[in-house]
Amino acid sequence: MELISVIVPCLNEEAAIEIFYNEFFETVEKFSIPVKYEVIFVDDGSTDRTLSVMKSLSRQDKRVHYISFSRNFGKEGAMLAGLRAAKGDFVTMMDVDLQDPPSLIEEMYKILKTGEYDCAAARRGDRKGEGKMRSFLSNRFYSFINKMSDTEFVKGARDFRLMTRRMVNSVLELTEYNRFSKGIFSWVGYRTKWITYENIERSAGETKWGIKGLFKYSIEGIMAFSTKPLAFASFLGILCLLLALLFIAVIIAKTLIWGDPVAGYPSLICVILFIGGLQLFTIGIAGQYIAKTYLEVKKRPIYITKESDLIK
Ligand code: UDP
Ligand code: MG
Repeated sequence: MELISVIVPCLNEEAAIEIFYNEFFETVEKFSIPVKYEVIFVDDGSTDRTLSVMKSLSRQDKRVHYISFSRNFGKEGAMLAGLRAAKGDFVTMMDVDLQDPPSLIEEMYKILKTGEYDCAAARRGDRKGEGKMRSFLSNRFYSFINKMSDTEFVKGARDFRLMTRRMVNSVLELTEYNRFSKGIFSWVGYRTKWITYENIERSAGETKWGIKGLFKYSIEGIMAFSTKPLAFASFLGILCLLLALLFIAVIIAKTLIWGDPVAGYPSLICVILFIGGLQLFTIGIAGQYIAKTYLEVKKRPIYITKESDLIK
């Protein structure tokens, strides 16, 4: 029988884990597909009882495994740990808050079994239950990043997806430190079938993403999959140079025709400030990329496993 691995990253989710566990197995047991499941909970440095809940589930049920990090490394690290540990012929990734409905797995599995696709992924059709500001910013983000990058970013895409083993192996080949899964899944290629579903609100606990966090995440995404900001910096430089040349020509002409004496201290200050600001701005962009490069070359592990029932 084929095995589906389910990766569930958790950060301070003591209230949600058991709800997820019950709902998940209740749902998949109703499926008519001949598969087995393994659920890998990844505790991303929780400070509540998340790990002990995972452990007790894993003791009760052989299909449940857990990996616990030494501190919070972020959802990207947690997903990677899960992908590395997964033994399944198919692998899926789900939020523990049941915002990713387990009922979709059957449909996803059937899509992959046709052999036409290597990935069946969920996207939210609407953003019900989410602030207007959040949806607006999120829409802006998707149109912006798609302009900036050659990798395609699908609007409303979740990390919830079922992938074939060969696609998972490809994803595992990308060992970069600055991980942005939405981009990585798209970058590796293969055909993806998108399933649209209605947004579902959290079962318990609360979201870990504030506007600030999402903004940081967006910048990371753009930087991980585009070098256009660097080109933009050069473009600004050239634009300023051309403007300056024009300005010089005007001043020379003015001096020759009217013999304009030295005036224009204020305009000089403005120009100095403008150029100074522009330079710092563009150096800043370059600096961000250098910083990312610095983190990459250090080759630090993306996460540290404190304990797991999978590693003895
Ligand atoms: N999560 C995690 N590490 C983090 C942040 C979140 O493992 O640093 C997990 C979290 O427990 C949840 C999933 O990632 O299972 C998605 O988080 P959340 O539901 O807060 O995000 P949202 O659905 O609001 O985008
Ligand atoms: Mg959620």
